[in-house]
Amino acid sequence: MKISGYLIDLEQAVQTIKKKGYETIALQIPEGLKSSASKIIESVKKEIKCEIIVIADPCFGACDIANYELKNIGVEFVIQIGHTPIPNLGNDLIPTAFVNALSSKDVMQVVEKSLAYLDGTIVGVVTTAQHLHTLKAVENILKKHNFVPVISGGDKRIAAKGQILGCNFSTGTNIADKVDSFLFVGSGNFHPVGLLLSVKKPVIAADPYSGTVKKQEISDLKDTILRQRYGAIANSKNAKKFGILIGIKRGQQRIKLAYNIKDMLESLDKKSFFIAMDNFAPVSLQSFRDVDCFVSTSCPRIAIDDYLQYKKPIITPIELDIVLGKRKWEDYQFDQITSD
Ligand code: SF4
Repeated sequence: MKISGYLIDLEQAVQTIKKKGYETIALQIPEGLKSSASKIIESVKKEIKCEIIVIADPCFGACDIANYELKNIGVEFVIQIGHTPIPNLGNDLIPTAFVNALSSKDVMQVVEKSLAYLDGTIVGVVTTAQHLHTLKAVENILKKHNFVPVISGGDKRIAAKGQILGCNFSTGTNIADKVDSFLFVGSGNFHPVGLLLSVKKPVIAADPYSGTVKKQEISDLKDTILRQRYGAIANSKNAKKFGILIGIKRGQQRIKLAYNIKDMLESLDKKSFFIAMDNFAPVSLQSFRDVDCFVSTSCPRIAIDDYLQYKKPIITPIELDIVLGKRKWEDYQFDQITSD
């Protein structure tokens, strides 16, 4: 079915519901598609008799795998729209069908436009889930103009070749030393800036929605983020008590890392305790007044995206290493959740 400029193929999910005889289904849906929830429900119910419960909580990625709580309201199966699965997470709590929402936006024009901005001839190509189906066409345009496109697989957190997540740029880092520059096809700034910080090669962002190509803007934004991170690290230098944030969402959990951080802080006579959250929001942390600094082991975007909204510094585990003198600022790296 076509909804709000996206192609959503529910057929496989419907077949699974029929085959297994599921009666109560939960629907996880990204913010941008929530206004189409009733259309999606009608489309499924036309095919099969079942009850569908729409989950209103925000769902930013496949890391947000439905947990056992839904079982308490009788949910037997989940349809998560708009994301590809994270392969190494498994699918064993409540069976879940990940149904990608493929953008029907044409990418040809903006990719043609981006060619003038590319550095060198060997170009790494990456994109987000919504544009994965356009990679072949992007590859062909580059070849037609005598570029050598390189599209790599990622680690076990990545479902498809050329795909990046806001927390995983392995399809880029895997080929960073082989390419001259990267072409990112997609919208928003977080992915191309995260890529730039991870691969340390020029990144050109071609946005099919706005038709714009960004290179300098991405580089400037990277500098702004680095300045903010430098500030957050500096503000954490004298911290005595740390709150170690643990994401409850299955794909945001890095428990071992959280324990390692606690051990490291204890060995340096710093106090710390764990704070677990499902949806991170500044308001949930503001009452922890005796905490000097939060270290997030959850989604890497929390520390970066919402930096200005938190009253106390919130840093990534890599940044904590710099605070504690275990890593130099020159060796700064963007925090990623990898499958290692
Ligand atoms: S952890 Fe964050 S960046 Fe990664 S998939 Fe989840 S919401 Fe996206």
